[in-house]
Amino acid sequence: MELAALRDQLISWANVNSGSEHVAGLERMRHLLAADFGSLPGAVVQHVPLPGNATCALRVTVRPEAPRQILCSGHYDTVYPSDHSFQRCTLLDPNTLRGPGVADMKGGLMVMLAALREFERSPVAARLGYEILFTPDEETGSVASRPVIEAAARSGKFAFALVFEPARANGDLVKSRKGTGSFTLTCHGRAAHAGRDPSAGRNAILALAEYLPAVHALNDQLAGTMLNIGQIQGGSAVNIVPDFAAAQVGIRITRANDGESVLARLHELAAPINARDGYRIEITGQFNRLPKEVTPFEETLFAHWQACGRELGVNFSWQHVGGGSDGNLLSAGGLPNLDGLGPVGDHLHSSDEMIHLPSLVERAQVAVRFLTKFAAGEIKLPSA
Ligand SMILES: [Zn+2]
Repeated sequence: MELAALRDQLISWANVNSGSEHVAGLERMRHLLAADFGSLPGAVVQHVPLPGNATCALRVTVRPEAPRQILCSGHYDTVYPSDHSFQRCTLLDPNTLRGPGVADMKGGLMVMLAALREFERSPVAARLGYEILFTPDEETGSVASRPVIEAAARSGKFAFALVFEPARANGDLVKSRKGTGSFTLTCHGRAAHAGRDPSAGRNAILALAEYLPAVHALNDQLAGTMLNIGQIQGGSAVNIVPDFAAAQVGIRITRANDGESVLARLHELAAPINARDGYRIEITGQFNRLPKEVTPFEETLFAHWQACGRELGVNFSWQHVGGGSDGNLLSAGGLPNLDGLGPVGDHLHSSDEMIHLPSLVERAQVAVRFLTKFAAGEIKLPSA
């Protein structure tokens, strides 16, 4: 496993724009992956159409008849649109590459490919089969991919999944993830002429402006819940009392039942405004990913991953993170998974996204050791 070769292949992938909305770029990227992963021995490649999405998921299957089966998961979209200024990789020093998606998660796909190629040389490879599922819309919530991910999770074919999202900047894996949802808080008032008849109006902007600080304050009141008022609109002209204002709020929760609590609080806070004549606050939206809460099975998986790391001189710990991934959907579908197995990176989702290059080899080697031991029956897992 040679670092320079992995680096160069990663650069060639990252220089292809595959922003979640850039269909032509996603097609190009998927065909690169189909060729690279399709060269694994015996691989069967399928492009899987996704209703509601102009592009496809990619499924690569190797040895579906083997006695042990696992799922590997990754996304090939990035957060950078085709007209974003951040399009090319720059080698900052021999160990640091900056570029779009170099960590999140084309670097993770590189770790996966390097590990699987190496694993295929092992005499025990015949005893482990796997399916790799690549999704094109993870960065926008995996809306179209969700049925395919959930079907894989529920198929009963796989012992567990490995998710090659990037590790944390300090090298930690991902222990658990927050669930994410997007909500709209709409305030309805009553329009009126601002000069002739202002008292007949009910100013929706003012009422929403009164509501939002209380919404934001929930950040301090509900442990494990995060709210971000990220967008706002309302009104139509300065001579009209506005009858409409709305705010978009991103909500992140740590436990599944946090969702109910935060929504109940939002309704409670709206009640005094709704009690006034002519005002109504409406709350719409949903949690599109439930939290990924760690299970005892996953704790055992992680302990084995740690042991493999120790044998190679790498000490792993893991941590809770605020961002969601396809790991959330796999967990919701009942498939235990280990997440954050990709490279060490930093400044994700910004023009400074970078990867610590040696972590490509390090993480891939740990994965090879884990796969080899699992294939050989040396990793004992509790019944899921
Ligand atoms: Zn990602």
